[in-house]
Amino acid sequence: MSRITTDFRGIIMFRRDYRERDLLVKILTDKIGPAMFFVKGAKKRGFRMAADILPFTHGEYIGSLTDNGLSFINTASDTSQYRSIATDISKNAYATYILALVDSAFQDGQGIGGWFNQVVAALALINNGLDEQVIANVIETQLLVRFGVAPTWDRCVICGRDDLLLDFSEQYGGMLCRNHWHLDERRLHLDQRTVYYLQRFSTLNLQKLNSIKINPVTKRRLQFVMDSLYDNEVGLNLKSKQFIRQMGQWEEKLKKS
Ligand SMILES: [Zn+2]
Repeated sequence: MSRITTDFRGIIMFRRDYRERDLLVKILTDKIGPAMFFVKGAKKRGFRMAADILPFTHGEYIGSLTDNGLSFINTASDTSQYRSIATDISKNAYATYILALVDSAFQDGQGIGGWFNQVVAALALINNGLDEQVIANVIETQLLVRFGVAPTWDRCVICGRDDLLLDFSEQYGGMLCRNHWHLDERRLHLDQRTVYYLQRFSTLNLQKLNSIKINPVTKRRLQFVMDSLYDNEVGLNLKSKQFIRQMGQWEEKLKKS
């Protein structure tokens, strides 16, 4: 593809000032994945597409797309902003993190297949009040493969058994059954509830999810597993993730004071 004018669905990922009156807007598109758009005159008062390019807005756009250089928007329709995400600090932080993860996981200008709908579903669920950490954990679990880490979640990586207690081993890149726990004393020592959710997250279709409630202890363990994998195996250090960690520390301090 060089450059085509087409309609596409998009989610505004972030925006950056460009010259005095213009903006660069990163949009996750259904047609070519993440792409940077040049929006001329976007900072002028009364700009006709001002609402269409606000952060956390999604909708239909028509524009000129390219996998090599800047894309352009001609018109927008049926756009709406995820309001609670835009106004709630915690939802905002996790949604920002999800979009940053997706931005790191896929190359600009390349299609992302079913991932577009999965991200739309993730943001809609967070916006509708489902637990933002849990939704982010689902996305984290499923994106591991894109980062070259493909843990075996559903059975023992050594013998293939799935009928014994399982525990996760970073060293072996997946679950070990009880018979093979001795192979890795630094396995994560997870309880079976956490194991169950990890397995479920790895294949969960967010478009079919209506509600999910997980107790705070299990949530902390799930986050611990994801942090271990992303810190040690993926090696990604996103600003949005640091912010979420800080938010957690503030909460702890508030509880103690
Ligand atoms: Zn085994």
